[in-house]
Amino acid sequence: MARRTAEPGAGAASTKAQFAYALLRDAILERVLAPGYTINQEILAAEMGLSITPLREALRRLEGEGLVGLIHHNIVQVVPLTPREWRELCEVRAQLEPMAASLAAKSASEPQLQALVRLAAQPLARSAKGRALEHRRFHYAVYAASNNQLLEELLVQIWARTHRYREIVLREWDFDQDDRSRHQLLARTLARRDVEGAGEMMKRHLGEVIDAVGEIVLREIGEGEAAAAPRAALRLGLSSRPPYLEGLARTASK
Ligand SMILES: [Zn+2]
Repeated sequence: MARRTAEPGAGAASTKAQFAYALLRDAILERVLAPGYTINQEILAAEMGLSITPLREALRRLEGEGLVGLIHHNIVQVVPLTPREWRELCEVRAQLEPMAASLAAKSASEPQLQALVRLAAQPLARSAKGRALEHRRFHYAVYAASNNQLLEELLVQIWARTHRYREIVLREWDFDQDDRSRHQLLARTLARRDVEGAGEMMKRHLGEVIDAVGEIVLREIGEGEAAAAPRAALRLGLSSRPPYLEGLARTASK
């Protein structure tokens, strides 16, 4: 009886699921949970101090986002980095981001366009991580300015999946003044509402970035899909059993 009518209980369960989702997503994107790592759902639930239901809910969401895959009854795997996924992400981005830029030139509000110009004009952050964040902020602002919610959702999801590759890249490559100049040029083109120009410019910008970093990505993960996971884990200095669980368990049980 209590269970059926207990709305607060249901709310608490979904809050726990949300919590587990956010923690695991961060751990995957920041590669604390290395690509290819397998997780036993029951053990993970116990160690996070959760029941299995909210954990499953969280994992289903992550599966929908292409970050984990069910490989056995209660075993999920953090999706490995593969040359194939990298190529697919690049191909889709190369079509959708120029589309977002063109739509933004057509339908963004004036405040959205001004915000883009301001973002592009900001001086480069001191740290590489800060520069990567700024880069993301600009691209996310373009997605939002497209005023097409579906496109924005898709691109944010693609960005998240690409982020795991970006982490490899940023060890050898950095966003620099040239990238900032390209953002400034793009922002000005958007502000002029040049639909075709904005699409073209975004296409060129992405092409340059993808060419520059693709070589690094493929060198790091390109030796076959099966080898990708353990190699990536080794390079990050992660043991085969990363020390994420205690931290997650502490946070989740609060
Ligand atoms: Zn950019």
